[in-house]
Amino acid sequence: MTTFSRTWIEIDLTAIMANAAAIKAQTGTRLIAVIKADAYGHGAVRVAQALHEIAEMFAVATVEEGIELREAGIRKPILILFSPLPELAEAIVAYQLTPAIDNWQLAQRLNEVEQVDAVERRAVHVDINTGMNRSGVHWTEAKAFLDRLKTLKRLEIEGVFTHFATADETDNSYAYVQLERFSLLLANLVEESLSYSSTHIVHAANSAATLTIPEARFDAVRPGLSLYGIYPSTEKPMPLQPALTWKTRVGWVGWIEAGEGVSYGLTYRAPNRTRVATLQVGYGDGYPRALSNSLSIVRREAVLRHTPSRGEVLIAGKRRPIIGRICMDATLIQLEPSDDVSIGDEAVLIGKQRDAEIGIDEVAARANTISYHILTQISRRVARNYKPL
Ligand SMILES: *Cc1c(COP(=O)(O)O)cnc(C)c1O
Repeated sequence: MTTFSRTWIEIDLTAIMANAAAIKAQTGTRLIAVIKADAYGHGAVRVAQALHEIAEMFAVATVEEGIELREAGIRKPILILFSPLPELAEAIVAYQLTPAIDNWQLAQRLNEVEQVDAVERRAVHVDINTGMNRSGVHWTEAKAFLDRLKTLKRLEIEGVFTHFATADETDNSYAYVQLERFSLLLANLVEESLSYSSTHIVHAANSAATLTIPEARFDAVRPGLSLYGIYPSTEKPMPLQPALTWKTRVGWVGWIEAGEGVSYGLTYRAPNRTRVATLQVGYGDGYPRALSNSLSIVRREAVLRHTPSRGEVLIAGKRRPIIGRICMDATLIQLEPSDDVSIGDEAVLIGKQRDAEIGIDEVAARANTISYHILTQISRRVARNYKPL
């Protein structure tokens, strides 16, 4: 697609590599780099290429995401984090993907696939439900499941893993409950000398657990968000560098008279003659509409009042508020009369401009959501520019 710089994100691959290296140094374990949902909007293929040396394995959510990486020439093992539907067994074998597995139907289908040049044994990682309760084999039933899986000759139980429900909360007590259940199972497997694979790997830690629960590191950690330099909670136990900057440009600058409104619904009314600029970005690009201001106007004693602006952007090195409703393709901001702003100027939605900075955590909080959601909403029409190229 040809792009003309209306809005774009800049992705610093060096920062992602530095974050991966810092995480590896801190944990001393192997790294399963989570690059699902197009690497949280950063571009899965580019991120996989950048992390090819340092990551033991990549993890994605879907078979399609795995195929995209294979077709781009990524040779490392690729884990599918969610047990895929059994009908995808052929594709999994054909592309040499490593599925999470939590049910017998998929196991059987994988074992049955006839493929001429397929590898002898098909690696799987067994998903253990220790209390997240959205997927996985219940921890009390996992040993029986593993025993049964061993009867399928073409499968190789390469990994066993679980996932935490609350590792990003200040109170880690439930994460320790899950850890205890997982450890009991592992002890049980060892006790019965149930060698489920000679090269088996045990893993549990998402970013939050990687950063704050050393006991959860096992053979490998499985971070996503922190690779991109973003923290899953307010705790910042190690320095990470944000990798993404989101920019747009000014498409219109104007004055509106006192009492006039802007954008759909005219939800912002100018109290005085006001200078405004329109940015070439909107919710059609994934910029959250929740950053609009003043969904209702209160008329009290002939005074128009607005709810405070929910979003802010950086322009000419300063913070300026969003006014009115964010449109599909446009966002209005209020300027000061003295601001040196004209058509074509850059504005920053997430990131730094001169001495000012708006972090993704701030944007997420203002939009009443989480950074993961902001990142994965950035739409296809926002160009991705990489550094280094
Ligand atoms: C998304 C995901 C991760 C990574 O989570 P982060 O919070 O981004 O580190 C790890 N494991 C599983 C099973 C996931 O779904």
